[in-house]
Amino acid sequence: MHVTIQMQPLKYRPYDGESVITMDMERHDFQLEDLVERIKENDHRLVALQVPEGLKMQALEMMDEIEHGSMAKVVLAADPCYGACDLVHDKMRMMGVELVAHMGHSAMNIDSGMPTHFIPVTYDGDPEIDPVLPILARHKAIAEARIIEAESPIDLSDEAARERFVDAVGRVAPLTGIKLGLVGSIQHLHLLEEYKLRLEAAGFEVTIPTGGARLTFPGQVLGCNYSGDDPSIGHYLFLGSGDFHPIGLVMHTGKPLALLDPYDGGASEMSFERIERILRQRMGLIFSVDGAKNFGILIGEKPGQMRRNLAIRMKKLLEKHGKKGYLLALDHVGPDLIDFYPVDAFVNTACPRIAIDDAVKYAKPLITPFELEVALGEKQWENGYQFDEIP
Ligand code: SF4
Repeated sequence: MHVTIQMQPLKYRPYDGESVITMDMERHDFQLEDLVERIKENDHRLVALQVPEGLKMQALEMMDEIEHGSMAKVVLAADPCYGACDLVHDKMRMMGVELVAHMGHSAMNIDSGMPTHFIPVTYDGDPEIDPVLPILARHKAIAEARIIEAESPIDLSDEAARERFVDAVGRVAPLTGIKLGLVGSIQHLHLLEEYKLRLEAAGFEVTIPTGGARLTFPGQVLGCNYSGDDPSIGHYLFLGSGDFHPIGLVMHTGKPLALLDPYDGGASEMSFERIERILRQRMGLIFSVDGAKNFGILIGEKPGQMRRNLAIRMKKLLEKHGKKGYLLALDHVGPDLIDFYPVDAFVNTACPRIAIDDAVKYAKPLITPFELEVALGEKQWENGYQFDEIP
């Protein structure tokens, strides 16, 4: 049986990677027929559907289709969902749900305690590579120059290193090669092998990096995990839209990154100026907690965000320096939920991107664990900015 979803173009924005753009939903594959088959095979009677924020408008239509194709009743997990880190769990079990259908993300190395059917949702857009080739050629030259510079290193003073933010990032990942790393967001990963061939034909040595256990597919990146990076990769091409993943990837690696958008065919690059602005903001936040005595340490309650041990380590570190840390566990993190606590600053161990992307929304400094370590003098910024990655 083939289940057809009739949909209108809508704004689709999975938090984990895509900007707000209007898409043709008929070009997305929601793979509902596989889900319906699984439900029928197992005779499930109550199923939860969890979808990214941008698909919520379409969720009722999907629920109708699933209920029409099977004997199951479907309950929508209507709380915000930002990634596979955010699987619905015990509350759905208490409700009697037998299967969770999670849409728009892939499995990661966590156990929510619920049987979960992941639906990546793919898009069939297939942009020309020509517009991005000049950018890639320029980035390849930057990688070549870096390798030459590494052979006769420039001894930067601390002050000079602070001025050269991009170098400060780049020095954590000295290059051994100039390969083009081909990555993408989940909707476009099925295109990577074909694009590898096209880019090789255009003269690039291309690799599709394979990351750690948090990632399911070769070439996949998450906003909190770029573990496929290695020193043989000199620059990147990201297949996707929005700057969520590109910002994280460049902050993590310090390597040039070009973007090719399958939705509109546009080619662009993540500018070093943009990254430098973010790094200056991060350094400003580190300075701003200099005299802080009391910290709130945020622990994410979502299964794939919970870093309890890291939070406790931060608390002990604060105590070592004569400061106080209060552990605050939250499912969702937002200004209204924490700004009122009588502390001087917050350290975030939940989704790393809350501190990086949303810091300006908070009335008090919101920093990452690495940034706290720098503020306390336990780590040196000059050894390279350390992106807060969840392994
Ligand atoms: S923890 Fe990672 S996967 Fe989850 S929302 Fe944040 S960036 Fe995305």
